[in-house]
Amino acid sequence: MQIGTPNIDTIKVIEINDHVLAFYTGRNWTRIREELNWIDDGAMKLGIAGYAILKNNKAVIYDTFADIRQAKWVRNHLENMGIEQFTVVLSHWHLDHIAGNEIYKDCNIISNTLTYEILFKHKNDIEKGSLEGPPEIKPLTLPDITFKKELNLYVDGLLLEIRKINVHSEDGTIIYIPDDKILIAGDTLEDTITYMDEVENLVEHIKNLMLLKQLPFSTILPNHGDPDIIEGGGYDKTFIDATINYLSRMVKRAHNEDFLKSSMRSYLQKELELGWVHYYEPYEEVHSANLIKVYDYYKNRSLPSLPGVEM
Ligand SMILES: [Zn+2]
Repeated sequence: MQIGTPNIDTIKVIEINDHVLAFYTGRNWTRIREELNWIDDGAMKLGIAGYAILKNNKAVIYDTFADIRQAKWVRNHLENMGIEQFTVVLSHWHLDHIAGNEIYKDCNIISNTLTYEILFKHKNDIEKGSLEGPPEIKPLTLPDITFKKELNLYVDGLLLEIRKINVHSEDGTIIYIPDDKILIAGDTLEDTITYMDEVENLVEHIKNLMLLKQLPFSTILPNHGDPDIIEGGGYDKTFIDATINYLSRMVKRAHNEDFLKSSMRSYLQKELELGWVHYYEPYEEVHSANLIKVYDYYKNRSLPSLPGVEM
């Protein structure tokens, strides 16, 4: 196996429109370490994107990537395009989204208050590499502006509605761009399936995804998605339906006898056929981990009633 630096030179720059860029890497990459670790076996294996919204010489950066060298590459690329003023918005506290913060330590880094509090609490362990294991993120640069629920940010007149949302992680933050009808979704939506971390909140996640779907956007850009779909301009709202259906079915079937053996495909047959989401083999591991978490959480609990969802 080849071990090296993350494939920073294969970050793909994708023009979503004339002022929204995606930076995509992973899925086909050089490992940084042989042993299991959160960069290779989390972010890079599934594929990871960051986004930039640009106007004139200003840019808002959504997430700083899983490695400081990747963050540096993105900033250099944008500086070469004439960007002089950067503002960072963080999607949530997970390490693959904040590892490059240090590259923007001279800029404003915005997160919701909860993201700040979680990063502050774990700062020492993240810097030692003892929270999710190595590699460490040292130094960890914390956000310097926080908001509670919502924040409007203007990039030279272009409105970005920044909203906190409890999906995937309690401290999720999404960006909605009304003029473009674009939702930048962070880890609230992943293709093929959502990564379940906070199983005690799954019903809340379903409800919040239903509310999110009501916003009048037509394009969704996730941080872990299919590069071909992102390159084709992004996802539509069926991506949310697929995620709601997966979450709902997982909860609904949690007491089934064969639950722990149930395949990812058995939860998304129609959705995969219709192309709402796309089969990607490494998500089998995510699904297996999701099954165990849901099983453990519900084994001694009665199943909750779910909002009206087609099963
Ligand atoms: Zn992530």
